Amino acid sequence: MTDCIFCKIINREIPSYKVYEDDNVYAFLDITQVTKGHTLLVPKEHVTDIFDYDPALAGEVFARVPKVARALEQAFPEMQGLNIINNNKELAYQSVFHSHIHLIPRYGKSDDFSIHFGNNQEAYSSEEMQAIAEKIAKQVEQ
Ligand code: AMP
Ligand code: ZN
Repeated sequence: MTDCIFCKIINREIPSYKVYEDDNVYAFLDITQVTKGHTLLVPKEHVTDIFDYDPALAGEVFARVPKVARALEQAFPEMQGLNIINNNKELAYQSVFHSHIHLIPRYGKSDDFSIHFGNNQEAYSSEEMQAIAEKIAKQVEQ
């Protein structure tokens, strides 16, 4: 895609700090470095978001996540953890519309990073939970 910044990076039209590449994926440092080693893993083919993958390409891309994760762990032995994040659509904080997976190494509580998981367990009865699960399950099977 001509006006996509990540396609331009993959095609070497703009520079990046490459970490890994093969026939299907390209991995490079996120320019913001939320923490040291913050890496983006992207399909070379332009895919807008998670809803846009065919299963074979998804397999290729997501299978590379542990490879890059282990490389980060080896490169930075002081690493204490790793957040893997994939934002999809604007509401969910996607700002570049070429699918990408963030790998964000964690070093300690003072990392410049936060994530909040609310707990709304009390808002749902067990019947409502069952109905939600069934609604999704019906679609997964299709
Ligand atoms: P998201 O907000 O999940 O869509 O993430 C997009 C990420 O792309 C952000 O973390 C940006 O810092 C990063 N980014 C944007 N442009 C570049 C670039 N030229 N090189 C490296 N990372 C970039
Ligand atoms: Zn693209």
